[in-house]
Amino acid sequence: MDISPCGHEFSISLQQMRSENDLYKRIAYVLRELLPDIPIAMYLAPSLSKKETLKLLTLSSVAQQPDLKYLIARAETLKNQQILHGDNHYCIVLRKNRTIMGLLWIGEKIPMSRCYLVGHLINVFYHQLNTLALSRIDPLTQLLNRQTFDDKVIEITTGDGFIVEREQQGIRHWYLALFDIDHFKVVNDNFGHVIGDEVLLLVAQQLKDNFRAEDFVFRYGGEEFAVLFQSHDGDEASHLLNRVRSVVAEFSFPQVNHLTISIGFTLLDDICQVSELVHEADLALYHAKKHGRNRVVDFEELGIAGQAKAETNIELF
Ligand code: GH3
Ligand code: MG
Ligand code: MG
Repeated sequence: MDISPCGHEFSISLQQMRSENDLYKRIAYVLRELLPDIPIAMYLAPSLSKKETLKLLTLSSVAQQPDLKYLIARAETLKNQQILHGDNHYCIVLRKNRTIMGLLWIGEKIPMSRCYLVGHLINVFYHQLNTLALSRIDPLTQLLNRQTFDDKVIEITTGDGFIVEREQQGIRHWYLALFDIDHFKVVNDNFGHVIGDEVLLLVAQQLKDNFRAEDFVFRYGGEEFAVLFQSHDGDEASHLLNRVRSVVAEFSFPQVNHLTISIGFTLLDDICQVSELVHEADLALYHAKKHGRNRVVDFEELGIAGQAKAETNIELF
């Protein structure tokens, strides 16, 4: 392939990627095209989080991985430099403010112009990664937004996603729980929307704090939240959700003081459509609301599993 000196075609193609998965594949392709048969190793902070250490993203033509700790230490001493020169390698550094967010090690001397071009494209890639990450976040609560929900469910049910395996303690299944704040309209009516928003923010924080890092917490609608989480069985899932329900019920919200949430949940079935799953969890939530609120209901308990699926099928055809 002919590559223009500014790599314009690569830059555009990176900016056109609309999913993180596609973007990762594209940067791997770009690096292969620009650095054919040259040893490279690229590291990136997962989920753009500053807390975690850099993880290997892509590696090619490498006999032995470079010493990551040494590279980070060098990058830290050479504070503002983007390209570090070694005896027989280069290292391109990605920084966000002062924090090192990524490293590309190139294990061979290449023309400097090519090195700058790669550095530029890595920055375009990283910028696009940030843009995509931001577009998945709800601005008020900083939770994942509704638009991301369907993709995540599909990723999980098709096994295409990044599912962290925990130590083997028996098979764990994915569950979907829908949370709805009880009588939230009264909060807005009595205390105003600003206080209402603060309550949403605090409930979101409690959900995040009470699920694991590998679970997914979404703001599903106005005062509704959805959580995709793993559990061994329905009883364990119910126990976990009841714990979260109590945490919220016992919390003292500024001005509002106490409020409660209702929760409906269902097992993620790999043959289910996303709309079916939501429908099941929603029926369980509706049941919780109808029977006094401040409670957790498993869709299984309703004893209408077949019926609910049949209803959804009717809607589909
Ligand atoms: P229920 O127990 O049946 O769920 O009663 P509810 O009052 O919570 O239910 P309803 O769905 O009738 O009311 C939800 C309210 O949530 C209505 C709407 O004004 C409020 N709401 C939705 N989004 C936001 C938001 O972003 N900020 C604030 N402050 N309020 C919101
Ligand atoms: Mg509601
Ligand atoms: Mg409500």
